[in-house]
Amino acid sequence: MNNVNVPFAVIGGSQAYDLLQKGSIRGERVGEIQTPFGPSQPIYHIRDTLGEMLFLSRHGEKGYSLTAPFVNYRANIYALKELGVKQIVSWSGPGAINKTYQVGEYVVVDDVVDETHGRESTFYKNRGIGFIRQSPVFCPALRESIKESLGNLKINFSDKGTYVCTQGPRLETPAEIRKYKSYGGDLVGMTLVPEVFLAKELELCYAAICYVTNYAEGTVDRTFKPGELFEGLSSDTERKAVERAVSQFPIVIDEIAKNIKQQKAICQCASSMERYKKRGDIGPDWHDWVRKS
Ligand SMILES: [Zn+2]
Repeated sequence: MNNVNVPFAVIGGSQAYDLLQKGSIRGERVGEIQTPFGPSQPIYHIRDTLGEMLFLSRHGEKGYSLTAPFVNYRANIYALKELGVKQIVSWSGPGAINKTYQVGEYVVVDDVVDETHGRESTFYKNRGIGFIRQSPVFCPALRESIKESLGNLKINFSDKGTYVCTQGPRLETPAEIRKYKSYGGDLVGMTLVPEVFLAKELELCYAAICYVTNYAEGTVDRTFKPGELFEGLSSDTERKAVERAVSQFPIVIDEIAKNIKQQKAICQCASSMERYKKRGDIGPDWHDWVRKS
């Protein structure tokens, strides 16, 4: 059994993990945590000058070894809860449906549309619990921390955006992007669902910071280029803007870790399951709420 107890965690993609590998972030490997849903992805304990946090690389340790539909979201969220985490910031790079966003720009998304299918999306199978309100979708206090942190660092960002989560691993068709746009989707990615909903089921605060990696299919006219990332969907200039955004990851998460400790905003995330506790459906120990089936 481990004795790590850290209240703040960041779940990042492979590009964030590369920074850890290169030494831009210093962290000690805690390793995989065994959960009723199988092992989590390896977790790192980061103790930097400013903050202390756990870091979990969603897509594995070797490049992009796990694509979004195959990530064990339940194991990852369970493992973080087990290590004492109360607040999770997600870091990911979706595409833009809404062209008012710039590639490389940060967006503190505020709503989600779930277009995934077949993912294990609840801890509460066959339990009769888990009707949890989803407004606000993301923790308002944590969103405040992210916004203040980006502001302190004088980084431009947008504080609004509806994230459409697709199944993947394939990218979207032009017609799918038109559909998402028609109902108000701003960004399209593959990772926030079911992560955000699972976090809420275990009464964790969860918010997401996205950096725009490209414009979604059909929104800009781009020639197909075999052998390139996204087959030509992003230009050289855009790739540089994305690199810049990614390179700021260490300072951004440090600033958020520092800001969280002083955050005055209040949230209700820790009482998502209150109704079921009151009714006597579940007891005080969250381990007993979760049933593997
Ligand atoms: Zn919260």
